[in-house]
Amino acid sequence: MDNKSVKARFEPEEDGKCRGQMLMVCPVCNRKIREQALERYYEGNSENTVELCSDCREDFERDNDVALEYDTLNKPLYGKLLAFASTAAAAIDAQNQGLNERTAPMVAYALGGDAWQSGGGIWLIVKRTADKRVVTISPEVVNEYADEQAFEENRPKSTLVMG
Ligand SMILES: [Zn+2]
Repeated sequence: MDNKSVKARFEPEEDGKCRGQMLMVCPVCNRKIREQALERYYEGNSENTVELCSDCREDFERDNDVALEYDTLNKPLYGKLLAFASTAAAAIDAQNQGLNERTAPMVAYALGGDAWQSGGGIWLIVKRTADKRVVTISPEVVNEYADEQAFEENRPKSTLVMG
């Protein structure tokens, strides 16, 4: 994929009532949608495309106080839509590679901790040690808190940034 486009991927549906229908995954909100519900916007005079669902398009319109009346956009507007979609898509990618709603509970179980979803859909492992410390683990950062209160007040005793 080039960096001027954000495209939805196909989601094969093997069972359930949508069987046989073409499902796509909105690259902005990561939800499954029917192919017909996917919207495509083009940058004028190019092959560049942004695909997203109507809910995400409405979010974009609200945030930017614009209305996408046509599916071919002028360069500045396309640029804004691309920035909006690619930021969200990058966050989803990062999450897919690390902890997510599927992997976080498995990692938590292995570590004897809890899976915890913090703001913005970020998954963490929260591990409470026998000596009352609280350790949070994400693919990006490990924080150690002296106790439960320090955790609630977000005052880590030590922070280890990964990578
Ligand atoms: Zn969406």
